Amino acid sequence: MSTIEKFNEHVMQTYGRLPIVLDKGKKREAVDENGKSYIDFGSGIGTNSLGYCDEKWADAVCAQVRSVQHTSNYYYTTVQADYAKRLCEATGYKNVFFGNSGAEANECAIKIARKYSFDKYGKGRHTIVTLVNSFHGRTIATLSATGQEVFHNYFFPFVDGFVNVTANDIQSLEKLLEEDKTICAVMFEFVQGEGGVNPLTKEFVDMIFALCAEKDILTVADEVQTGIGRTGTLLASEQYGVKPDITSLAKGIAGGVPMGACLASEKCSEVLGKGSHGSTFGGNPIACAGAAAVLDRVCEKGFLDEVNAKSEYFRKKLSEIPEIEGVDGLGLMLGARLKTKKAADILTAASEKGLLILTAKEKLRFLPPLTITYEEIDRGIEILKELLA
Ligand SMILES: *Cc1c(COP(=O)(O)O)cnc(C)c1O
Repeated sequence: MSTIEKFNEHVMQTYGRLPIVLDKGKKREAVDENGKSYIDFGSGIGTNSLGYCDEKWADAVCAQVRSVQHTSNYYYTTVQADYAKRLCEATGYKNVFFGNSGAEANECAIKIARKYSFDKYGKGRHTIVTLVNSFHGRTIATLSATGQEVFHNYFFPFVDGFVNVTANDIQSLEKLLEEDKTICAVMFEFVQGEGGVNPLTKEFVDMIFALCAEKDILTVADEVQTGIGRTGTLLASEQYGVKPDITSLAKGIAGGVPMGACLASEKCSEVLGKGSHGSTFGGNPIACAGAAAVLDRVCEKGFLDEVNAKSEYFRKKLSEIPEIEGVDGLGLMLGARLKTKKAADILTAASEKGLLILTAKEKLRFLPPLTITYEEIDRGIEILKELLA
C-alpha cells in the first residue's frame, strides 16, 4: 500500500493535497520520496521560517528533547521563562499565554477581550468586530470570528457576538463603533493572509486605534501569519506605528514546531487569572526551545534588513512577469494577481516542475523561508516565468 493510499484510507479527507510525499528537507528545499527536490516558496504556510532543519534551530530543539520534553503547567521551566522574557522584551508586551496554534492564540485573545470588558462594564459588552475576508482559525469560536461566509456552514450553532466590517472601509467602522454599544474589541490582520494577501491601509489602522482608544475598546492584532519577521519587521504593527492591546502569534514563531502565543499589554495583562484559561501542551519546552532559536536569528543585526531587501527583489522579479498584474503584501508575505491564468492551476503545475507555492483566493501566494537566498528566488521565479508564459 502506498503512502498516499494509506493516508487516504486512514486520515480524514479534510485537505486538498498535492500527490507529493515529502520525506526530507534541507535549507530551502524539500525532497520527496522519489528523491525529487522542490524549492519551497511556501515554507509550510510560513511556519518553517528558517527553512528546513536549520542547524542551530535543530540543535536547540534536539538538546531540549534530550533534557526535558514536557512537564505540564503545574511546574515552571527555565526554557519557557527565558523565552517569555525575551519575546516580551523584543515585542514590548507585558506578558504572554502560550498555546499550540493560531486558533488557540486567538481563542485566548477573544477570552481576554471579553473578560476585560466583563470585569469593567459587566455583562453584555462582548461583541468583537472582525473584518470581511479575515481568517482567524478553525475552532468554533475562531470560525465565528472569521469574516467569510463560506466558513459559516454545517457546524451550527456558531458563537454569537462577532460582527464584520469591510477592511479599509473607514465610514462603516465609524458607524458601527458609534451605534453598537456592545463592542469590546476590534480584531484584524494587518495583512489578510488566507483572505488574499490584502494589507490594511494606514488610514484604516489609524482609525481603528483612534476610535478604540476613545471608547475603551481593545485592539487585537492577529499576527499569526504576519508575525516574527514575516513582513520585514518583528511584528507588522511596527510598520503601521501602532501598539495593539493584544497580539496573537503562531505559524513561524517556533520554526516549524507547533506553538501559539497571545501577547498582552500592561492594560490587559492581568485579565486572565488562575483557573481562567489553560492548555496542556502550552509553553511546551521543545516548542519554546525552537521559538527561542527563531527569535535569536530574527533579532540578529541585519537579519530583517535582508528580509526587506529580498522582499524588494522578489517583488521586482514577480512584477517583470507579463502575466502578473500586480503584487501585494509586505516583506516576504506576497500575493501576485494574475491576468488570465488560474492560481490553482499554476500551483499544481509549479509542483510538477519542482516549485512549491501557495494560493490565497485568486492570487498566487508566497511565504518563502526568511532565509531564502537570491539564487533560490531566481530559480523559483524562472519556473514561474515558464509556467506563466
Ligand atoms: C493560519 C492562521 C490562523 C490559524 O492558525 P492555526 O495554527 O491553523 O490554528 C489564524 N489566523 C491567521 C491570520 C492565520 O494565518
